[in-house]
Amino acid sequence: MNLEELYRQVIMDHYKNPRNKGISDVDGYRLVHLHNPSCGDDMRVIVKVESGIITDVRQDGTGCSICCSSASVMSEALKGKTVEEANKLINYFYQMIQGNKLDEDKEEALGEAIAYKGVSQFPARIKCATLAWKACEQALKEVEENNE
Ligand code: ZN
Repeated sequence: MNLEELYRQVIMDHYKNPRNKGISDVDGYRLVHLHNPSCGDDMRVIVKVESGIITDVRQDGTGCSICCSSASVMSEALKGKTVEEANKLINYFYQMIQGNKLDEDKEEALGEAIAYKGVSQFPARIKCATLAWKACEQALKEVEENNE
């Protein structure tokens, strides 16, 4: 199996079996709802931060396989991280998706999210891949601003 096939498998796995999907109780969470008009993706992300640690991330949305699977990958990648670590990972993800070369340790830190590396070759899909990450980034920013 080549790397491209492996990446495709990761994406399809998260698309078919999304992690942390479904939003019901938002008490104690910060919710951000984002829309990607160019593709029709619609994504809601909720985060719970306790003592600077992201204790829960959940996502729910509709859209293309890139967007929905990426939300699942994001939720797993950021759950349990400190806000600072999460913001770093979000930034690495953006750099990668824009086609920038990352150091090995940064690629390693991204874990399964590295599967979206190839999206940089399809500029129209970049918004799909980053939508849930943007929502989470915004939620974390709001938590910080509100000193929750
Ligand atoms: Zn999309």
